[in-house]
Amino acid sequence: GFRRASRIAGLEISEIVQISERAAALKAAGKDVVSLSTGEPDFPTPAHVVEAAHAAALAGKTKYTATAGTAELRGAVAADAGVTVAEVIISTGAKQVIANAMLATLEPGDQVVMPAPYWTSYSDIVAMAGGVPVVVPCAMEDGFKLSPAALEAAITPQTRWLMLNAPSNPSGAIYSQAELQALAAVLDRHPQVWVMADEIYEHLNFIPFTRLAVAAPQLRDRLLTVNGASKAWSMTGWRIGWGIAPAPLVKAMGAVQGQVTSGACSIAQAAAVAALTGDNSLIDVRRQALRARRDRVVAALNAVPGIDCPSPDGAFYVFPRITGAMAAKGFDSDAALCTWLLEDHGVAIVPGRAFGLPGHARLSFAYSDADLDAGLGRIAAALGA
Ligand code: PLP
Repeated sequence: GFRRASRIAGLEISEIVQISERAAALKAAGKDVVSLSTGEPDFPTPAHVVEAAHAAALAGKTKYTATAGTAELRGAVAADAGVTVAEVIISTGAKQVIANAMLATLEPGDQVVMPAPYWTSYSDIVAMAGGVPVVVPCAMEDGFKLSPAALEAAITPQTRWLMLNAPSNPSGAIYSQAELQALAAVLDRHPQVWVMADEIYEHLNFIPFTRLAVAAPQLRDRLLTVNGASKAWSMTGWRIGWGIAPAPLVKAMGAVQGQVTSGACSIAQAAAVAALTGDNSLIDVRRQALRARRDRVVAALNAVPGIDCPSPDGAFYVFPRITGAMAAKGFDSDAALCTWLLEDHGVAIVPGRAFGLPGHARLSFAYSDADLDAGLGRIAAALGA
């Protein structure tokens, strides 16, 4: 019979995907369901980006590209980051950048420190690559941010990586330049620890954002910056992400990628060049729209008994504490409350446990005002506002 490899023994479909698929199945069965569960902007891909893809396809840019990406896109990323092309790799989404890096570097038992709440895939990717996630809970009262003391306490001789993500999915947290420098000061004492800075929400910020490479240039010889086209340019389906890292790591990641995908889609890479180098005033417009939605969602949630919702500084999620609502309704887990909201009240949100911080839930506000109002109305009705 069928037997799973031990390397994926505990691996499940991401809880975010499971909830989104359950919401879609309920909708397909004729149920009235509002989903606030997916990390995908509702905005369309900008027209000039779509046109660049069309032109590339007609011009015959339909063949395999170099494994690490086209010269044009690597060059555009390198120019944006102020690095050489040898320090850039293009992959099939930022997710593959992270997977490549972990597969390329982790030995069995190597530890990877991840402040929680973290993006669901971090722990699964690390485990799939044979590593051990070391989860450091970061309280809502601390802005969901990792403190230098907590980082110091989490590092052991087995620590290989620290995974940082700002603006954060799911908390929206952004570290100030001083906070980044304080974390870097801890890392200065542990030169064996590499750092992944996932900055995929870079342009979706409501307060100033500083890249880790800029705040702490001394980390550059052990820093992997992850970014991509999915969020800022509404290009989730095009599957283009990039990694910026010292050339030996880029080469190792390329070796993995060469055996998994051969490289990212040629047409999507041409589109991403247009995104990176084109007129980006649209991002400002969309950022303002997201800010208005954020304020609407935070106000609505804080009016619901048992929900305590801080206002996020970036990305397009809120991550309220829901323990009061759980207690009021007799649920002993965030997941049970979320299942009840979906099955009985027709609104899909993701439990905090999927991000390593139970007692919370994540709602995306990358949805239309109509969807947001409908979803928030159902939550308020269910929880007795
Ligand atoms: N990193 C974070 C923090 C994310 O939230 C996501 C998507 O949800 C990704 C990476 C992956 O993005 P993609 O693979 O679409 O580029």
